[in-house]
Amino acid sequence: MYVYVNGKIVPSKEAVVSVFDHGFLYGDGVYETLRVYDGVVFKIDEHLWRLFRSASLIGLSIPLDANHLKLALYDTLMANALRNAYLRLTVTRGKGPIGLDPDLCPQPTIVIIAQEFREYPRAYYEQGIHLIIAKTRRNDRRAINPQIKSLNFLNNILAKIEAKKNNAHEALLLNSRGNLTEGTISNIFFYSDGILCTPSVDCGILDGITRSLVLDLALREGIAVREAKYTKKDIYSAEEAFITNTTMEVMPVSRIDERVFPVGRISRLLRTAYRNEVRAYCAHVKAKGPSLWAEET
Ligand code: PMP
Repeated sequence: MYVYVNGKIVPSKEAVVSVFDHGFLYGDGVYETLRVYDGVVFKIDEHLWRLFRSASLIGLSIPLDANHLKLALYDTLMANALRNAYLRLTVTRGKGPIGLDPDLCPQPTIVIIAQEFREYPRAYYEQGIHLIIAKTRRNDRRAINPQIKSLNFLNNILAKIEAKKNNAHEALLLNSRGNLTEGTISNIFFYSDGILCTPSVDCGILDGITRSLVLDLALREGIAVREAKYTKKDIYSAEEAFITNTTMEVMPVSRIDERVFPVGRISRLLRTAYRNEVRAYCAHVKAKGPSLWAEET
């Protein structure tokens, strides 16, 4: 395996960062996870846009522009000869003496890891997965805004530990007011009284790229959607539910705590619409050719 580290693609054994890196010392950094389908990085512009937003929200200036990051992503993919893959792009504050001051770190660290994509078990999509509502609450937006996709994932990890203890695949977090937010690595949707519902961004969530595509697809399919504040009760009384993220796409939910759900029509319809959208996107990128990602470099 080859890894991109600060402009060089090196064998994974040589891919190291300093123990003085503030990403390691303080979780001071941001990242994106991208999925590659048949050699095409899906929604690359949206992921890079969000990376720059996360960086800007922590006052981190990324030394490469979006076009150079695109080239670095594709170079890393090619070095690993991967076509169906998972890309993890990390930008940390960089190496510096101990201390919180970002000015201690003159040079951000950029790392790209590419790995073969391993499909989730088919049973997850056919039968749905089990969620719990965690006791751990989601970070308050005024403390650490969940829209910052940061290296500081302990809030989510604490909820994930609860999920594992309950033999669940994923945990949903409520915010301090008791409103639904999101999963540890996913956004949540449910269908109730003819409306596709999902917590609004102001509940304190990461506005997932899959989430916004699913909202668009639902509208295109003529399904009414509502982004709002919801409680546990709202989701318990829903007809069906699913979660979304870049790697899982649209994954149906069969149980939340003791409440059981069928894998319903809306989840299946949106999963198919999502897969079709992926195919159309890849065909479009391929038709345009490499110039799409090598523009102005
Ligand atoms: N919420 C959280 C906390 C996440 O980590 C993720 C995964 N990036 C998501 C939602 C889903 O985002 P996306 O659809 O962009 O993968």
